[in-house]
This record gives sequence, structure tokens and C-alpha cells, in this order.
Amino acid sequence: MKMETTTATVQQTKVNLLGMSRKKMEEYLTSIGEKPFRAQQILKWIHHSGVDDFDEMTNLGKPLRAKLQELAEIRPPNVVKQLDSTDGTRKWAVEVGGNNLVETVLIPDGQRGTLCVSSQVGCSLDCSFCATGKQGFMRDLTASEIIGQVWLAIKSFDGFNSGNKRIVTNVVMMGMGEPLLNFNNVVDAMSLMLDDFGYGLSKRRVTLSTSGVVPMLDKLGDVSTVSLAISLHAPNDRLRNELVPINKKYPISELLAACQRYIDKQEDTHRVVTIEYTLIAGVNDGVEHAKELAEVLRDVPCKINLIPFNPFSLSNYKRPSKNAINRFWLTLTEAGYVTTVRTPRGDDIDAACGQLAGQVQDRTKRSARHRQRAELEQPIRLV
Ligand code: SAH
Ligand code: SF4
Repeated sequence: MKMETTTATVQQTKVNLLGMSRKKMEEYLTSIGEKPFRAQQILKWIHHSGVDDFDEMTNLGKPLRAKLQELAEIRPPNVVKQLDSTDGTRKWAVEVGGNNLVETVLIPDGQRGTLCVSSQVGCSLDCSFCATGKQGFMRDLTASEIIGQVWLAIKSFDGFNSGNKRIVTNVVMMGMGEPLLNFNNVVDAMSLMLDDFGYGLSKRRVTLSTSGVVPMLDKLGDVSTVSLAISLHAPNDRLRNELVPINKKYPISELLAACQRYIDKQEDTHRVVTIEYTLIAGVNDGVEHAKELAEVLRDVPCKINLIPFNPFSLSNYKRPSKNAINRFWLTLTEAGYVTTVRTPRGDDIDAACGQLAGQVQDRTKRSARHRQRAELEQPIRLV
């Protein structure tokens, strides 16, 4: 009886290599008595060739392949639905266990393909204008589930076989979830995005978007060089407290100071953060808000991305008129800011910013617990 249990346990606990950073894969190979340089070969098979079967890794000896078959696996997330928008945007619903789904979106634009990647099943931070926030929080995605979204997007367009790796040229961590509250897994997945043995994307083409978990932002600056986007959405704390509740813990002045520290830690000069500002009719879209925003951002090296609010069924907020959006844009532009307005893409398949809701089972207790974690000074074990 004992033997049977042990066998079953071994089968269930195969290590998924898909989300292993180069460093972790080297450590893993060493731990099973193999040479660490094999990591580079295995990474290339997985992330350059899209291989998920060790038998296809022909430059590994047969004994190593057999050992890996026994101990490990390359298990991509399971796609349960694929939707195509009339504008070319493609959305996948990915099954992540327990009847939960997360969503991933690829937005093609000329030579560019931007993949919007989810980091959590739901989100605990409950921003008032966000469909994901309304779902509550279930759990963090694993590094395999995060990088697996890049893998499956390329696979879906046959990008590995066609030699056309440029299906995904940019990644934005702007799908479901707050990436800084799933720090270790997000950092591992992003290191694979940047690694030449992974997807080889430049640090300017991988962007992490955060609502402002300040201590984690400081930690990110210690270990990562990716581009940063900040979900600001309001020019003062009174309004931001309403829209982005985590602001009560980490107010605007602290958040902007953390942005500056992040930039200062980067080796190259000329780095800027992107300030994201969702425009909601009658809430934060007045010229007075734009003027106040221009003042608040005066000392921050930044560009501004305006996101017209994308409606969803659980929200009464409205998208502002074109005139209101233009006025807001003009006020910031005249104040000297490089300001763009994000064109909604894929809204016919609910794939636009803030419309990703997937399917999240637990809406209450986990959400509260996770939010508490966010409010502690050192909430998460760091790499
Ligand atoms: N949790 C992270 C990343 C995911 S949200 C963050 O908050 O930054 C990605 C972006 O979409 C954020 O800027 C978010 O504020 C914005 N967003 C959320 N809901 C939206 C909506 N309904 N309409 C437009 N933008 C929205
Ligand atoms: Fe979470 Fe970002 Fe949505 Fe806020 S905007 S609820 S932080 S996913």
C-alpha cells in the first residue's frame, strides 16, 4: 500500500520545466546530477522550438531524456476557448484548475504583436473601474502559467514551426491580476521573456503595469530591468483613494518617489515610466484634472497613456466623449507631456483593457486575505 502511494506521489509531482528561469533550470539539473549547461539546450527546445516532449530534444543523450521523462514535464496551460476579433485581436481563455479561467490577449499592429499577459486568477485590489477586480481573487499563477501564455500565443499562430518568432514582439503584464503581488513567479517569467535562450525580448518591450505596491516596486528595481507602467488614474489622493483603494496605503507622493527610485536603479539613462490614466466620464476627465495631473507629474520622467474607460456589465461608469478625451489630451500635451490615447482593441470579444474577467471561483475570503498581504511591509518571500 505504501509503495503504491509513493508511486502515485512521484507521478503527480513531476516538475514543470516550462516556467523555469535559466538559473533555476541550472540548479534543477545540478540537483539531479546533470551538467548545468544542459539548461541552455533545454530552454532553446522549449522556448525557441516550442517542443514539449523530451524525446524531440535530439541533442540530449537518451539516458538524460529518459530521466527527464520520468522526473519532469513541459506542461503548457490548457486553452479552453479562443476568440478572434474583427480587428485581428485574439483572446484565449486558459484553464487553471478548479473551474477557474484566466485570459490572454494578442494585439497585432503592423510589424508589432503585443501580448497582454495575466499574472493572477482575479485580483484582490478591487479598483472600482476594473472587471478583474470585481471578480475577487483566487490564486497566483505559477511561472509556467505566466510564460505559458507567451508559449501558447506563438504556438497558436504556428510561430515556432514557421520560423516566424515575431508573433509576440512585446509583452505587457496588463492582463488579470496585480503582477507585483505575485512577485517571484512574475520575475521568473519575465526573466525568460528577456533571456536569449528564452524569448530574447528587449527590456523596453516587456512592460510591467502596477497599481502601486510600493515595497514590491522597490524590490523589482533590485532584480529587474523591464519597463514600468503605473496605473495612476487620478491626480490627487482623494480621488485615487476612491478609484484605486491601495492608494490609501501607498499614496501618490510615495508611489511617484518609488518610480523615481526604480528609474535611478537602471543602468541606462533616458528611462521613463508610462503613466496610465483611465478616463472615466464625469469622474476624472475634466480639464482641471488634467492640469492637476500635469503639476503632480512635473518632476517624474514619464510619458502618459490615456485609456478611455472600457465598459463592462458590472459597472455604471461611462467612457468620456471624444471631445472630452481630446481636451484632456491637449491640456497635457500643451503642458509638455508626450501623451497618447490608447485605441480600444478587441472590444467586440471583451478583450480591451479592464474587460478581462475570466472565471474566478472564490470572491470573498481569499481576496481579503491577499489584500492584507499587500498591506504588510514585506508581504512576499523574495527571490
Ligand atoms: N493590475 C495591474 C495590471 C492589470 S490592469 C494594474 O492595475 O496596473 C491593466 C490596465 O488596465 C491598468 O492600467 C488598469 O487600470 C486598466 N484598466 C482596468 N480596468 C479598465 C477599464 N474598465 N477600462 C480601461 N482601462 C482599465
Ligand atoms: Fe487589480 Fe489592476 Fe484591476 Fe486594480 S486595475 S483591480 S490592480 S487588475
